[in-house]
Amino acid sequence: MLHEFKYLAPRSVAELCSALSDHRDDGKILAGGTDLIPNIRNGLMKPAFVMDAKRLPEAARLAWSEKDGLSMGTAVTINDLLRSKETRELFPVLCVCAHELASHQVRNRATVAGNVVNASPCSDMAPALLCLGARAVLRSAGGERTVPFGEFFAGVKKTVLKPGEFLERILVPAASRGARGSYLKLKRIAGHDLGIVGVLMVRHGDSIRFAVSSAAPTPVLVESVSAKDSPDEAARKVLAAVSPISDVRGTKEYREHMIGVYVRRLLAEVK
Ligand SMILES: Cc1cc2nc3c(=O)[nH]c(=O)nc-3n(C[C@H](O)[C@H](O)[C@H](O)COP(=O)(O)OP(=O)(O)OC[C@H]3O[C@@H](n4cnc5c(N)ncnc54)[C@H](O)[C@@H]3O)c2cc1C
Repeated sequence: MLHEFKYLAPRSVAELCSALSDHRDDGKILAGGTDLIPNIRNGLMKPAFVMDAKRLPEAARLAWSEKDGLSMGTAVTINDLLRSKETRELFPVLCVCAHELASHQVRNRATVAGNVVNASPCSDMAPALLCLGARAVLRSAGGERTVPFGEFFAGVKKTVLKPGEFLERILVPAASRGARGSYLKLKRIAGHDLGIVGVLMVRHGDSIRFAVSSAAPTPVLVESVSAKDSPDEAARKVLAAVSPISDVRGTKEYREHMIGVYVRRLLAEVK
């Protein structure tokens, strides 16, 4: 039987902050529910209160401006990103990664905010947000703070969010507009699946950034590779930044090998 909880649907940010403050230890935010509900079903999470973040004003807002860049509210789904003309044209890297996340049906529910707060090492949106220099706007009854995604992930399924805080918005800086990238994701099956490893390479002007998923306790950003590096040198730099493990999806050695293969393959695009 599903663990019983009380469902709350706050209609304002102040109401959500107050509920979060009252239920620091026994409350969970519900976005698309694609991680939360399976966790509750499997008994991994037993919240007494579930607070729906989708009814907040602005929660589903996906807006672009020259001044602020791209702003995603807490309820913006993966398919919202893929459907947005601005995202496709100005920040195609987000779409490259969004396409690889689960199936169309899951992408209709799954939010970008939920994906990063869940903080799985195999998150498919984290590599794009890391490479684009995105920031998380965190809010609580005490106020607001902004954290770059480079500092957001704290370990497997851990973030820097404090009790009583939620991820209100994700900001992708206007300066990252036009960055291009490719994401290679190794899976056990041809259809949708969590990654064995994922390697994203993003080019913006002369700069190259790599981000790797499923290869360390958190998704990893690598900024030390240059287009002048040999493929072997680039692979060495990326491998030095990760620490893959062996698990049900693949061995440490297989992951390391495939990260090297993917880095070389991606770098060939700019040679
Ligand atoms: C069949 C299936 C396949 C999947 N495949 C992939 C895949 O290929 N790649 C991948 O990356 N993921 C995959 N996932 C995982 C999942 O879909 C994503 O992580 C999803 O983006 C989570 O978003 P959500 O809106 O469903 O979050 P929820 O399940 O609603 O929430 C996730 C967690 O974050 C918390 N939370 C949510 N929003 C906020 C917020 N704004 N502030 C604070 N806390 C918050 C919740 O309390 C919960 O702990 C898959 C899931 C399923 C069921």
